[in-house]
Amino acid sequence: MVAPPYDIEAVRRDFPILEQKVNGQALVYLDSAASSQRPRAVIDAVRRHYETSHANVHRGAHELSVRATEAYEDARACVAAHIGAEDAAEIVFVRGTTEAINLVAGSLGKAHIGPGDEILLTKMEHHSNLVPWQLLAERTGATLRFVDVSPEGRLVLDDYARMLSERTRLVGVTHISNSLGVINPVREIAALAHEAGAFCLVDGAQAAPHLALDMGALGCDFYAFSGHKMCGPTGIGVLWARRAILEEMPPYQGGGEMIASVTLAGSTWAAVPHKFEAGTPNIAGAVGLGAAIRYLNAIGLDAIRRYETELLGYALERLGEIEGLRIYGPTDERVGVLSFTYLDVHAHDLATILDQRGIAIRAGHHCNQPLMEHLGVDATARASLYLYSTFQEVDALCEALHLAGEIFCRSA
Ligand code: PLP
Repeated sequence: MVAPPYDIEAVRRDFPILEQKVNGQALVYLDSAASSQRPRAVIDAVRRHYETSHANVHRGAHELSVRATEAYEDARACVAAHIGAEDAAEIVFVRGTTEAINLVAGSLGKAHIGPGDEILLTKMEHHSNLVPWQLLAERTGATLRFVDVSPEGRLVLDDYARMLSERTRLVGVTHISNSLGVINPVREIAALAHEAGAFCLVDGAQAAPHLALDMGALGCDFYAFSGHKMCGPTGIGVLWARRAILEEMPPYQGGGEMIASVTLAGSTWAAVPHKFEAGTPNIAGAVGLGAAIRYLNAIGLDAIRRYETELLGYALERLGEIEGLRIYGPTDERVGVLSFTYLDVHAHDLATILDQRGIAIRAGHHCNQPLMEHLGVDATARASLYLYSTFQEVDALCEALHLAGEIFCRSA
């Protein structure tokens, strides 16, 4: 069956923010890997929640609290179905990927990782999947080891065979690199980790916005992602873990909502996932994330992926024509997160020149300082594409880069 054409104009109309001008020019938003924009469906769902159903969850005996609890738990069920979780209890709502990984490091780390144990990460991890493990290693005397990145920008898979041992307690890997765009073979990596008797945690911050996910098929133990990179609100994210593992893990934070009973002598814990959701959660955020997932599914993640792949091919071709521009990461098995350097123009100067033309890109180390060091740069410029990005926007980027190159060459 032939897939219906992707209606990019209709998609763009769903995102009110894209209609505006910035610095007198039509906004070209190419910073979705840092945070995506939100469709009206999400904005409306959050507004509706506050206008009609807001109260605290899980504790009130009144109608609004019942409605808010239903909406919050409905969002959990929506996330569970979206990522192929076996049970909604496997979905822990957190602030985002960073908090999800800190939760695992703080809880599983405390219970299972000690002196002489090893945690195997990679050189392409975002600081969110590095610093929590450094903190844990400092506390426990565990050692961190790092899988290498090839010159092409892929993980050196042979390193897993070399570095995994009975000392390895956990393997942490990003599903998609936020600087290289590469999609890592996390299924194979999870299988290798399990053969060695280690847990496998996947940072899905850059994958959840683009890929259809199935936790059963991926085979990892923990998967973390953020709502704000996939059309949802800020301040809401997800830690998925298999129920049996969550049940074994000690609480991460203490407070209201996460207890079964409390006396002055001690406390017992609520069932999962509530054991890990101390305090009043981000109720409206969860409602908005549910709306974002429904929005993406209404368009279809497969349709979005096909469109993004076509657009990425065009962007790689057009950017590849610009002399002096170097794109990092492989040309296949990747998404449209395009990090590049251009002539000797500093990435921040590039971003400033582009901003004057209404083009939003990111510049810097992208919370990937060890990877930048590995690549031999202190910063890159990064243009990232999403479901509402267009071929014309890629053209606008290339035109502005040509102009930046001319300005730079004249002043050099
Ligand atoms: N991991 C990756 C690969 C990311 O790209 C990001 C954000 O850019 C994060 C983790 C952290 O996400 P958050 O700031 O939403 O917690």
